[in-house]
Order: sequence, then C-alpha cells, then structure tokens
Amino acid sequence: MDCIFCKIVRGEIPAKLVGETEYSIAFKDIAPRQPVHILIVPKNHSRDITELAAKDPDALVDLVRLGTKLAAEYSTGSFRLSFNTGAEAGQSVFHAHGHITSTTPKPVQ
Ligand code: AMP
Ligand code: ZN
Repeated sequence: MDCIFCKIVRGEIPAKLVGETEYSIAFKDIAPRQPVHILIVPKNHSRDITELAAKDPDALVDLVRLGTKLAAEYSTGSFRLSFNTGAEAGQSVFHAHGHITSTTPKPVQ
C-alpha cells in the first residue's frame, strides 16, 4: 500500500525513531510545529483514530500509553495529545496517528 507511515513502519523510508512497542512506533515529526513534536503511529494501518478505536482498541490504548510515556520523557509534563481527523480538520496523512506537542521541552540533563 502506498502509505507513507506504513513505509516508515516497514523501515522503507527513514524516520527519527524515539520509541517502539508491539503495537506502535513513535518518531519525530519532520516539520515540528512546537519544540516537542512526536508522532505516535500504530503499526497496523487504519485510516484515522475513529477506525482505529473501532477496529483495534488494544492498539489505541498502547498508542496513548506510549505517547504519555514519551511526553514525560521529552516535556516538563505539560503537553497535548491530538488527533486530526478528516481533511477539513487538518489530517494530511491518512494512517492513524497521535501528535504529542509541547512548548516546554525537558532541559537536557
Ligand atoms: P496530520 O496533518 O495530522 O495528518 O499529521 C501528519 C504529520 O506527519 C504532519 O505533522 C507532518 O509534518 C508529518 N509527516 C509527514 N511526513 C513525514 C515523515 N516522512 N516523517 C515524519 N513526519 C512526517
Ligand atoms: Zn498506512
């Protein structure tokens, strides 16, 4: 399937990976809009978060857990977890994903 996030999951195009579980991978957004901007992506293809929630609730829980773990690692604890759903809401990649964004990155130790 010609899906950019499926290609990243399969390792066919590079990404700056920051986390992985049985169900999900996480990598830095290529065009960060906040000082912390990480994408959490289920390994199996669903077109958006609505389809993922209906089809694979275990993967949705895993996405939220990995996202909140990385938010704790990369931010001072204030962050957003957001899901653009539908083109009119700004979704541009039609493979479900959560955005972790934060204006307060954790200082490098
Ligand atoms: P959305 O607009 O909610 O569908 O989010 C898609 C996000 O994927 C955007 O923030 C893009 O900057 C990001 N993106 C697109 N291609 C890549 C890529 N190859 N590697 C990392 N992030 C990407
Ligand atoms: Zn896909």
